[in-house]
Amino acid sequence: MGVDTKAKAAVKKPAAHPNTWVFFEGEFARYNDVKLGLMTHALHYGTAVFEGIRAYWNEKKEQLFLLQSAAHYDRMHRSANVMRMKLPYSTEELVSYTVELLRRNEFKSDVYVRPLLYTSSEEIGVRLHNLNRGFFIYAIPFGNYVEVEAGIRCMVSTWRRVPDQALPARAKITGSYAQAALAKSEAVESGFDEAIVLSVDGHVSEGSAENLFMLKDGSFITPPVTDDILEGVTRSLLIKVIKDELNLPVLERSIDRTELYTCDELLLCGTGAQISPVIEVDRRPVGNGRVGEFTQELQNIYFGAVRGDTPKYKDWTIPIY
Ligand code: PMP
Repeated sequence: MGVDTKAKAAVKKPAAHPNTWVFFEGEFARYNDVKLGLMTHALHYGTAVFEGIRAYWNEKKEQLFLLQSAAHYDRMHRSANVMRMKLPYSTEELVSYTVELLRRNEFKSDVYVRPLLYTSSEEIGVRLHNLNRGFFIYAIPFGNYVEVEAGIRCMVSTWRRVPDQALPARAKITGSYAQAALAKSEAVESGFDEAIVLSVDGHVSEGSAENLFMLKDGSFITPPVTDDILEGVTRSLLIKVIKDELNLPVLERSIDRTELYTCDELLLCGTGAQISPVIEVDRRPVGNGRVGEFTQELQNIYFGAVRGDTPKYKDWTIPIY
């Protein structure tokens, strides 16, 4: 039977970065020299856990700063445990492999680092036990994931966040990102920039791949870790910065949907999303419909810290070169 040549060409497209160094099964290798089998368990059943880490290029300092890598690998250990998996390396080892990977690639731009611990057995059968695991890290040049300057327009998704009773959102499991993809595409294809997802019981949980903070009556409020959120690394950093630098209280409490329509400022945050001001939800302006003053201040502090420009936050990053 003939295969459509266009489709064939799309499938045969070479990897975007064929010569990039990756860390694969304990060794450094070129992206194109690494192969995974069609039957790889994780590909079929979502049996993998992963992380998303950023490194920021500082042009003036000619330095690349790896952000919060230990916190990400600590979370990856916990995600693995939920899935009856075990990372073959300690956090310290993973950080040092990541540093080495970035050095080898000689990146001089912002970078996204993706470690993946996956079920590598090539066999049919849904389960977690008695299966082999594989591990790799790759890194690619990466700019903004969502808009961070003008402010974004969000919709409350018709899809609900996966509940802890079904698929724990606190673990970063590849399988649960099918839910995030449903929400994101629904939002974008409906003309919005991003989705805000409610928990099954109707409270605000988070964005498709971001945690959420709102400012209301002089306090920042963010959903508690028991409202089916990923326990975000950026979320933890912001909680500290809001208290220490903005001198505002941070409340971790459940948020109702209509509070999104009545708050003063709203932002989404995450390693990929960074700090993204939300200026509209469900066609209602947030506050005065412009980027919030405190959100702007938080962003300035965050971008200074992640690019290695703020001595006070030196311990957030590791210089690569
Ligand atoms: N929630 C979800 C569902 C995410 O995928 C992410 C991105 N990892 C976040 C929140 C933000 O987490 P972090 O700040 O650790 O990147």
